[in-house]
Amino acid sequence: MTLRLDDPVTVLTGVGPKLAGRLREALGITTVRGLIEHYPRRYQDAGEVLDLAEVRAGDRATLIGEVRDWDVRRVPPRGRRRRTLDLTIATVRQASGAVFTATFFNQPWRPKQLRTGTVAAFSGEVKRFQGGLQLASPEVQVLGRVAAGIDTQEAARRLEHQRLLAVYPAVDGLPSFKLNQLVETALEALPPVEDWLPDAWRRRERLVDLDTALRAIHQPADPSGHRAARTRLAFDELFTLQLGLQVRRRQLEAEVAGVDNRPVEGGWADRFVASLPFPPTGAQRRAFAALTEDLGAPRPMHRLLQGDVGAGKTVVAVWSMLCAVDRGRQAALMVPTEVLAEQHHRTLQELLGPLGVNVLDGLRVELLTSSTTASARRRILGELTAGTVDLVVGTHALLEEGVRFADLGVVVIDEQHRFGVSQRVRLKEKASEARPGEREVLPDVLVMTATPIPRSLALTLYGDLDVTLLDELPPGREPVTTQLITPAEAPRRERLYAFVREQARAGYGTFVVCPFVEASETQAGTAAVDEHRRLATTVFPDLEVELVHGRMRSDDKDRAMERFRRGEAHVLVATTVIEVGVDVPHATLMVIEDAERFGISQLHQLRGRVGRGGGRSFCVLFAGWNGELSDEARRRLDAVATTASGFDLADVDLAIRGEGQLFGSKQSGMPDLKLARLQTDRDLIDRTRALARDIVAGDPHLSALAHRAVRAEVERRYEEQGTSLAALETG
Ligand code: ADP
Ligand code: MG
Repeated sequence: MTLRLDDPVTVLTGVGPKLAGRLREALGITTVRGLIEHYPRRYQDAGEVLDLAEVRAGDRATLIGEVRDWDVRRVPPRGRRRRTLDLTIATVRQASGAVFTATFFNQPWRPKQLRTGTVAAFSGEVKRFQGGLQLASPEVQVLGRVAAGIDTQEAARRLEHQRLLAVYPAVDGLPSFKLNQLVETALEALPPVEDWLPDAWRRRERLVDLDTALRAIHQPADPSGHRAARTRLAFDELFTLQLGLQVRRRQLEAEVAGVDNRPVEGGWADRFVASLPFPPTGAQRRAFAALTEDLGAPRPMHRLLQGDVGAGKTVVAVWSMLCAVDRGRQAALMVPTEVLAEQHHRTLQELLGPLGVNVLDGLRVELLTSSTTASARRRILGELTAGTVDLVVGTHALLEEGVRFADLGVVVIDEQHRFGVSQRVRLKEKASEARPGEREVLPDVLVMTATPIPRSLALTLYGDLDVTLLDELPPGREPVTTQLITPAEAPRRERLYAFVREQARAGYGTFVVCPFVEASETQAGTAAVDEHRRLATTVFPDLEVELVHGRMRSDDKDRAMERFRRGEAHVLVATTVIEVGVDVPHATLMVIEDAERFGISQLHQLRGRVGRGGGRSFCVLFAGWNGELSDEARRRLDAVATTASGFDLADVDLAIRGEGQLFGSKQSGMPDLKLARLQTDRDLIDRTRALARDIVAGDPHLSALAHRAVRAEVERRYEEQGTSLAALETG
């Protein structure tokens, strides 16, 4: 019987139920494929494998031998060294009979790892010591045990051949050398792995074949062999990911028809731009141009509008909605929270004021959230169905049963990361009903996000969306001066409060953001309710302090927001309900309590709430006041304090957190990226994306005979994440 990649690990010689259990629990490995795809974390350069006779003191060398004896010593403190030193010294014999010593400091576990009879490779600098040759603190790679039949000479020959020793991500009880052995067993038993990538494509992309890559990633002959293997395997990850996304996109486009929402000359959209009190930025103009094409195309628009906080996405959104109205259709703006819905509703009324809103011949704009009263809701639903409402702003409530539009032309979704794919899909049902034999009509969809995503990530994550960047802030914006204050600088808190008071007297408002609504036993941190009481009664008895959080009744929330907006309240204590979109131009100071509890992009979003009125503005991050500040948190906060651009911050975030978490592949249902790195593989991302597009354009289901293996590979990778390609295809 020949070994196959999908066989369970237990078919491998030496893998019994116990080891299999350990592999599953510790590393999630159950199959041979899982084992092979557990890629090395790094490689240890074995240098030239030498015999002792050829080595001189001062050389770097790798010496292979059998551990014969251990000498364990505890050296008491002496001189400047204040601690006892654990010294363990192995006597190692090479195949030639020559003997050297390997010395380890404070690694008392070494004798247990390298019991006598173990054959291992020791790499390091050779020293002369007490007449013999010694390697001090060498890197060690276990090769086997003499008792298990390993021959030192044979091991040396193998290593000569393979200078780079793979070092695996390992856990307790499954050290790297154990994984080396298992992988080696598997690769030896595995017949050549069939390549799913057609030869012609592979050659054109200058990639090595799959079998070569899988073997070389574990046992590279040299650095270039390793690079070629990595490129091929990373290519596979990105290419299959992109193929899946493109299949989904094509399918959406094939099943549904779009409507023509191109702006009409001299229409609402045109007049809106003309009525703005400022000229659009270059980036906004470019967005208008890209959208004009999409809106007019026979397929539904599916575009992501990405822009840093304050880049002016709202203007673009409103413009695109008016394009639908120009064609006699309706448009909806969907946002994740009620506060934001109210905010946008107000913004819309202000922006559209010069054109006339809810007046006899003006635009009809409505707001629909879960706190809309029953009678207002009934009226609005009726008017949406009748087509008398032009624009509607709302939360998830817009997706509920019973919401029907007369003719929905454009949908704008703000802050898409909070909406799932399924919700996007449900919009389809909101558009007009398809008659039998007709293709369903999908409105044009514009997704807006201010969550800075590195461009590379956006292209990967939203491979099925076109991306427009608003990469230019309106003129006159100054970056928000951001400072970190830890308890070590406690007096600065008092000084800050004095500054808040000064600002208040000058007519400027301050936000104070807290991580929790109410205090709880399980989490230490500042609660908005308590902080509000503290600030209102003890710190600022002379100022007006308001409170908003998600658990308040909606009219209380409105009232508090409104007082702050009008400048009647000087300080607004809030939870992250104000994270997105809330726009109060005279708010110039943002104070964030327990800032270590927030992620980089969240902090950037929060501080984007100030500095919207021109002039200088500030953000103060209090961190470490309710518990130890970890190094990681400190790095995050320092990055926020020193970096103004959301896109640069996103790169830092990616570097600190790594792909896995940011990508959230488990959530997104998209295949894992094990080797591909979004930051460094941009070239590969572009290549695979272009290639996937071409292929899917010619064969939307990858159903051609020549693509059968390709489709199977894409399917397999998506299925590992619980998403089937077939499901992608039906949207
Ligand atoms: P975003 O949603 O991208 O964070 P907004 O659309 O809320 O940004 O815009 C932020 C502020 O900038 C608003 O007060 C808006 O009126 C203003 N603004 C938008 N576009 C321009 C522009 N081209 N010139 C000047 N100010 C602008
Ligand atoms: Mg906005």
